[in-house]
Amino acid sequence: RQWAGVASGIVIFLSGYPMHTQMHAMLQHAPGGADTLYWGETARPVPGPGQLRVRVRAAGVNRADIVQREGRYPPPPGASPILGLEVAGEVDAVGEGVSGWAPGDALLALIPGGGYAEYALVNADEALAKPAAWSWAEAASLPEAWLTAWLNLMDVAHLQAGETALIHAGASGVGAAAIQLARWRGARVIATCGSADKAAFCQALGADAVVNYRETPDLAAAIRALGRADVALDCVGGPYLDAHLQCLNQDGRLVVIGVMGGAQAMLNLGLLLVKRIRVMGSTLRSQPLARRAALARALAEHILPAFVRGELRWTLDRQFALPDAAQAHAWVEGNHNKGKVMLLA
Ligand code: NAP
Repeated sequence: RQWAGVASGIVIFLSGYPMHTQMHAMLQHAPGGADTLYWGETARPVPGPGQLRVRVRAAGVNRADIVQREGRYPPPPGASPILGLEVAGEVDAVGEGVSGWAPGDALLALIPGGGYAEYALVNADEALAKPAAWSWAEAASLPEAWLTAWLNLMDVAHLQAGETALIHAGASGVGAAAIQLARWRGARVIATCGSADKAAFCQALGADAVVNYRETPDLAAAIRALGRADVALDCVGGPYLDAHLQCLNQDGRLVVIGVMGGAQAMLNLGLLLVKRIRVMGSTLRSQPLARRAALARALAEHILPAFVRGELRWTLDRQFALPDAAQAHAWVEGNHNKGKVMLLA
């Protein structure tokens, strides 16, 4: 009886052992700089109805992660507080009501948070099958940049073939996708960036003209000299608002997707109405699931096949081990990257 008691104690101990309920993830002591990040243990997420749990193999680093890390971009309600908006990996567990996915399937997906971890939850409606020939980093580098580019150039601005698109931060992850998407759409592209090195990168991606904003005191005049734009994809914000009103064509569309230069500006309503310019703000992360799922389908239908055919280019910059995410953040915050910075798990 004594031994039976010991044995049942061992069973209870084993069933309560946290081995299968815990995971490693990039956690934070408090909002702040990259030094607030640490690789620690936390609960492994449990997939709810309609969700998949993925063993993360690669996750993208985005500018939004840095703003979230600083405490200035809280995750939407219900999303993981862990950083990370896009992943590629293998299905590890399937939630209730999900069909078409089984453990071991390889996928890539946009997620509302939680990518900097060994395991992450993915809404099955947003998951896309990973082509076998692609690396994990290649697969995980697409969702955030390409869905942002697609949402804003195609669905919000309705960019047309023959129009001119002005793409700011052309060498950023989003910018590199937007240059290629605008060209794929049949538009002419003017890109901006902050160095000669990045200008060459934008040109190699298909930009017809590139303006180095650091050497251009009058941005509006420079864009006008290049033939004006019909659509501007703007992640700089306040300091560029007036320049956009001046360099956009009649019926121009300005889509503000970021405010890296500041959020406040004076708006010249006279120019706005005379030129019938539309100014629109846009975020991907806060879109309802049905909208994000529709965007994922557009990516699957139009963009992934173009990558498979070799018509579009990956823009992988540096890759870091996931526990070294702080180094990846320092690289991105220093504006060093051309294209996507990735974390490998
Ligand atoms: P990223 O790869 O981190 O690149 C950002 C680049 O922007 C920097 O390398 C830098 O390049 C340039 N930059 C930084 N500060 C600037 C300033 N004050 N003025 C002009 N250029 C500046 O960025 P990302 O993750 O692709 O994101 C790009 C932008 O899109 C960010 O603003 C992000 O918040 C936004 N975004 C918005 C959405 C949305 O749904 N609204 C979704 C995704 C991304 P240079 O060396 O050329 O200056």
